Amino acid sequence: MCSFGHNGVFNPRLSSVSVIDYPESAVTIPLMCLQCEDAVCQNVCPVGAIYRDKNDAVVIDPAKCIVCKLCVNACPLGNMKFSPITRSVFKCDLCGGTPQCARYCHAGAIVYVDPHEDSDRKKRIADQFKEAFSEVKS
Ligand code: SF4
Ligand code: SF4
Repeated sequence: MCSFGHNGVFNPRLSSVSVIDYPESAVTIPLMCLQCEDAVCQNVCPVGAIYRDKNDAVVIDPAKCIVCKLCVNACPLGNMKFSPITRSVFKCDLCGGTPQCARYCHAGAIVYVDPHEDSDRKKRIADQFKEAFSEVKS
């Protein structure tokens, strides 16, 4: 849904949502941008092309971007991507406040919550993430 919403085609390589597959453990983990409070992708951009919009999404201004790809290398989770098709970088922009992945997830596994939620909840989610990764590794 992500690539279709943004590009009009169904192509996982153009999706801002990645799915990490651990076949030995029969586990798959969806990975998406955390819209980091201190976003390293934004910090490294030499031309100030990355900013935070009114939905608290970290977004790219294509008019300013010089496609140096520093942000692609900087994101520790690989959530900033380069498209060889459009020759541009892209990331989750929360679809302007109505994320289509959450809207169309038939299992209800993706939920969009208020980005201004309290930090305790964010910490709990981060802890659950860490726990899930450590279980997969062990
Ligand atoms: S692209 Fe990466 S560094 Fe930038 S806000 Fe998303 S998760 Fe954080
Ligand atoms: S690719 Fe564009 S958004 Fe990313 S760091 Fe370079 S200029 Fe900034």
